[in-house]
Amino acid sequence: MRAYLCCMNCFNDIYLKKFIQDNGELADKCDFCSSEQSICLEPSSLLEKFCNSPLK
Ligand SMILES: [Zn+2]
Repeated sequence: MRAYLCCMNCFNDIYLKKFIQDNGELADKCDFCSSEQSICLEPSSLLEKFCNSPLK
């Protein structure tokens, strides 16, 4: 079973959108908002990035 994917449309944050755009890949469907043919990224990749950030 593949990992869940989350697209840039799921986020309002411009920085997160850009991060997904830069690091994600085109997917048939977002698992969260069901938008099709959007740039998606595994949420775990976001967690890896932000677990080191001071944002809590
Ligand atoms: Zn989405």
